[in-house]
Amino acid sequence: MEKIMRNFFLFLSKNRMLTKAVKKYGRHFGSARFVAGETIEEAIQVIRELNEGGLTVTIDYLGEFVDNEKEANEMVNQSLEAIKRIEEEKLNAQLSLKLTSMGLDISEEVVLKNMRKILHAAKNSGIFVTIDMEDYSRCQKTIEVYKTLKSSYDNVGTVIQAYLYRAEKDISDLNEYRPNLRLVKGAYKESSAAAFPEKKKVDENFKKIIKQHLLNGNYTAVATHDDKIIDYTKQLVERYGISHDRFEFQMLYGIRPERQEELAREGYTMRVYVPYGTDWYGYFMRRLAERPANVTFVIKGVFKK
Ligand SMILES: Cc1cc2nc3c(=O)[nH]c(=O)nc-3n(C[C@H](O)[C@H](O)[C@H](O)COP(=O)(O)OP(=O)(O)OC[C@H]3O[C@@H](n4cnc5c(N)ncnc54)[C@H](O)[C@@H]3O)c2cc1C
Repeated sequence: MEKIMRNFFLFLSKNRMLTKAVKKYGRHFGSARFVAGETIEEAIQVIRELNEGGLTVTIDYLGEFVDNEKEANEMVNQSLEAIKRIEEEKLNAQLSLKLTSMGLDISEEVVLKNMRKILHAAKNSGIFVTIDMEDYSRCQKTIEVYKTLKSSYDNVGTVIQAYLYRAEKDISDLNEYRPNLRLVKGAYKESSAAAFPEKKKVDENFKKIIKQHLLNGNYTAVATHDDKIIDYTKQLVERYGISHDRFEFQMLYGIRPERQEELAREGYTMRVYVPYGTDWYGYFMRRLAERPANVTFVIKGVFKK
């Protein structure tokens, strides 16, 4: 049943017609639990509260399926505005973004031009930018764009998904770039030709790449809500004497907030991924796919309106 629900929500997350329709009707259906607001001002309020509670942040202006330069430019402007506001408000926050929203599906030239604008502004403001990893069909292109950018900018990182068979090799190929990587299980529906179908194998591979990347001596963000993976990471860094400034934990806004605060109190860097913007639909559906129990919150949200 859980698998059917997961596939159902992942199917909905990719539906362009629904995306457009939902954009029109605003932020209903309980998404407020996972999305900080529609504007940068609303997001700033949330970031400030998280910072005051000892948590660091990465913010993401939500947007997918950008297929023309005008929309991509709008996404770039939103990111530039976010960088400016983070600096002005002296917030402890970084930026996350998706290359498709910067024009990856339009051309390499467009995506590189847009990313350079953002990385340049972010560097001047002392802000780190993480390129989220999207579905498998964009993985290779994302890594190539990342390598090109990393040759000129040191304030950029990307993401490796443990469910992909290629994860271990990607980490070893990227090692020469001394990359700052976020490691995750992976959020998209992928075929068994590209990704481990069994959860157990994904978890094993997740542990393997965490160890690999940490022992390579590169900065590692372990992004998970899974206590088993968190405990594994804690034991690993203890055993190998890896200091707390070489890694961090990351979780999504609205998921396990008490655990986030607990890890920060224990002295770990805990970064919360805070999405905002009007285009929250695909992101929200992927959260439902991960944990159908979240549907309860949606139903409550619908009946509260
Ligand atoms: C900061 C961040 C950035 C991410 N970036 C990307 C990206 O760029 N690309 C990408 O593909 N994916 C990304 N993801 C999503 C990721 O790939 C997973 O889909 C997502 O994190 C769910 O996997 P999990 O590791 O949390 O463990 P799961 O296997 O989903 O959950 C493991 C355990 O965690 C606990 N748990 C999980 N959710 C809850 C909850 N709501 N309440 C209580 N307990 C819970 C439960 O004990 C559960 O059994 C990101 C995730 C995070 C946290």
